[in-house]
Amino acid sequence: MQRLQKVIAHAGVASRRKAEDYIVQGRVKVNGEVVKELGVQVTNKDKIEVDQVPIYQEEPVYFMFYKPRGVISAVSDDKNRSVVTDYFTEIKERIYPVGRLDYNTSGLLLLTNDGDVSQKLTHPKHEVDKVYVAKVNGVATNRKLMPVTKQMTVEGKKVAPAKFAILSTDTQTQKSIVQLTIHEGRNHQVKNMLKACGFPVEKLKRERYGHLTLENLKPGDYRELHKREINRLL
Ligand code: URA
Repeated sequence: MQRLQKVIAHAGVASRRKAEDYIVQGRVKVNGEVVKELGVQVTNKDKIEVDQVPIYQEEPVYFMFYKPRGVISAVSDDKNRSVVTDYFTEIKERIYPVGRLDYNTSGLLLLTNDGDVSQKLTHPKHEVDKVYVAKVNGVATNRKLMPVTKQMTVEGKKVAPAKFAILSTDTQTQKSIVQLTIHEGRNHQVKNMLKACGFPVEKLKRERYGHLTLENLKPGDYRELHKREINRLL
């Protein structure tokens, strides 16, 4: 179920605001009946028309993608940099990323055209573990990383406790590899948490999203997910 104005907007007919105007103006029909109230819920079985023209409702699709470094988590970029949907030229549905990974972060990113699923998964209170592996500057120790297991305040915001593991340390270069498991997804959260413990992040990769791992994907590869794989995350 989705709100009517959202479905119209998502079909590319108009912005959500304009779609609301069309509804109020009586230009929208659902299953042959004019609907003038905002907020009516529809499914992809409902026949929707705007100015007598039926709109095409896409089937929901879900993908997991191995985002390479140096790619923007968006569908377009005003500076013409590479964006994640450049890798999906064979997919006709209008998909977009679920949340984002930073430009220089690599790893597992979900993409879908299902607005409800995307909204659920990106809500800060939605508890799906995301596992990151970071190469940090400095020799990590349990004592120095302990704050991430408590409620830290990062950039003025309280973040939920995380789990960590120190995977390796190179004492020559004074760098460590640290695994951090979080379930929120605030902007730059992993980098900010590690930096707050004294470890600036040099490289970051998301290796796991709930039960999903990168499997044998290579950077730039994707795989379609079954709805039941998505349902396990909800
Ligand atoms: N945390 C970050 O700092 N960067 C990401 O890309 C994802 C999580």
